This record gives sequence, structure tokens and C-alpha cells, in this order.
Amino acid sequence: MTTPTPRPEVAALPPYVPGARGGAGPAPIKLSSNESPYGPLPSVLAAMASGGEAPHRYPDMAASALHSRLAEINGVGPDAVVAGAGSVAVLAHILHAYTGQGDEVVFAWRSFEAYPILSAIAGASAVRVPLTADARHDLDAMVAAITDKTKVVLVCSPNNPTGPAVHAGEFEAFMARVPSSVVVVLDEAYGEYSRDPLAVKGADVLGRFPNLLVLRTFSKAYGLAGLRVGYALGPAALIAPVRAVVTPFSVTEVAQSAALASLDANAELLERVEITVGERERVLAAVRAAGWDAPDADGNFVWLPTREGTADFVAALGALPTPILVRPFAGEGVRITIGTPEENDALIAALPILA
Ligand code: PMP
Repeated sequence: MTTPTPRPEVAALPPYVPGARGGAGPAPIKLSSNESPYGPLPSVLAAMASGGEAPHRYPDMAASALHSRLAEINGVGPDAVVAGAGSVAVLAHILHAYTGQGDEVVFAWRSFEAYPILSAIAGASAVRVPLTADARHDLDAMVAAITDKTKVVLVCSPNNPTGPAVHAGEFEAFMARVPSSVVVVLDEAYGEYSRDPLAVKGADVLGRFPNLLVLRTFSKAYGLAGLRVGYALGPAALIAPVRAVVTPFSVTEVAQSAALASLDANAELLERVEITVGERERVLAAVRAAGWDAPDADGNFVWLPTREGTADFVAALGALPTPILVRPFAGEGVRITIGTPEENDALIAALPILA
């Protein structure tokens, strides 16, 4: 008897490894998923409650209020925005709209682990361009990796999981060399945490290139990872095909309401980001003082090149009386999310046993 077979690229997909969540035993400190450590503001909770009053009705499929608000904030027309169920979903839609069998998607590696998975799901081949020795994008090598099969290039700034941002000057030089027929996605999932004065800002480059999309999320700085809202901005002509492939009704009314309320509470939420940025500098200094050659950190996380010691490092943190969960990349390093000051104190106190 024959059984149904999936597309071959589906059978070959690498698994997405989510950050550890902890199990039985003492409640852990969760520094494994680059989430905000802070719960929702009362105003956002209230908006979620009213957004959830009619769950028997479908949400506004066009997410009109959210699209209009994001357009207004970013100084673009409403057709220049597309929201989805998290920026990972928006990126999947972008790849579905622009790539398929025989096409190539170029990105730095190591970078966000969904990139090769989403490229493969779209049917395209992933072209991984190694980071430089200081864990940065090698934009010259990325340009050199572009062929006539390349449809999309992904640039992650600040880069998950290593931390450095792409600089404005190098990004401009890169855009000047990328063929205008290739879509460039500037993934700014951690943009709000960036303080590198040289870092490229989506807001500065948006609208200047006909082939550039900027990807953003409410999951990190806005603390809505569990509600799933992200969006892309770019020229209307580039956004329209992405809108066409968005899963209908994928941004719930609760999520749309929470995102709008979060934009209303922007100043308050960015104060929390400021605390995280200060804590990041404190954790980075402590990690470096403990002897780790950690790269510059511009997101809400730091990267430790633990290499062959990765499993031992993670096991030692997991064995603490209050276990600390981090995100290991076997044989390469460990990504540690910045938590509350108390959580970071616990991590810093553990550093001597990990060196
Ligand atoms: N881009 C990058 C670089 C990320 O690290 C993440 C989340 N880990 C995302 C996009 C997706 O985030 P979300 O789907 O929650 O918006």
C-alpha cells in the first residue's frame, strides 16, 4: 500500500529548536528565548480584554487600524505595511511571495535559525554566508554569494544569536551593489535595543530602495511574544504580493488590540527597553571580565563562544539550585537573554563556576 508523501524538502527540514521552558523541579530563570522579562502593562491587558470580547467573530482580516497606525508612525502609506502572526510568519509570507523551486535565499550564518527552515518550506535553497571572526555580517561576501538564482537576501541587525548590528555605511554600500531585482529584508527584531551609533536604522533607509523591506516585531521590546504580531514595511509594490499570501485572519483581534495599545504606551515600554540595555552592558562587562571573548551585543542578549564546552556550560547552569535556562548552539556557543536585574545578578554570580 502506498502512503501519502510530503514534498521532499519538507522531509529534509531541520527542526526549529525553541528556547528551553523548564520542566518539573524548581522554577527556572528563563533566559533562553530573547523574550522581554516584563509582563504586560495594565493598559495593554485592558485592551486585550476588550479585544477578546467577541471571540465568536473573526478578526478584522485587513488589520486596518493596526496597518493605519503603523503607517502613520513610520510616515508611509497604509499600503506600505503588512502585519502577520509574528514577524516569523511575515517572513514566511515574504519568502512564499518571492521565492520557489530553484531559487536561492542568501543570509549570514549563524543567524536566526528560522531562516533556513522558512527558505526550505518556500522551496528555495538556503545560501549561508559565514559571519566574520568578530561575529558580524560579511556583507561583501554576501554580495559575492548573489547569483542569478538569488531572489531574497536576509540581513539581521542586530544579529540573532551573536549580537552585533550591521553598520549604516556598509549597508548602504551593500544596497548599492545588490541587483534591484533581489528583495533585501532588513530584520530589525531587536532594533529597539540597538545603541551602536553606527548601526543601520530601518527608519533611515526605508523608502530609499525599491527592493528593501524592513521586518519588525511586537515580540521583543513590546513584550507581546505570546500574542504573535509582527510586520513588514516597504514600497507598496513590494508589499502587495506579501499581503496576497498572508494566511487569512492570522492576526487575532486580541493581538491587534494589544499591539495598538502598546503603540499608545510606547514611551513606557521604551523605558523598559532602556533598563534592558543598561543590564545588557552590565552582563556583557561581567561576561568579558570572566574571560569570555563575547562579541559586541546590540540586542537583548549576549553571545558566549563556549565551543566544545557548550553542553557542560548549559548543564552547569541547569544544575544550579535555581536553574538558569539559556539557548545552546552545540559546538558553537550559548546565547543568554537579558532578564530582570535580579535574574542577571543570578547569572553573573554563576559565571565563576562556568569559566
Ligand atoms: N527575527 C529574528 C532575528 C528573531 O530572533 C525572531 C525571534 N526569535 C524573529 C524574527 C521572529 O519573532 P516573532 O515571530 O516573534 O515576531
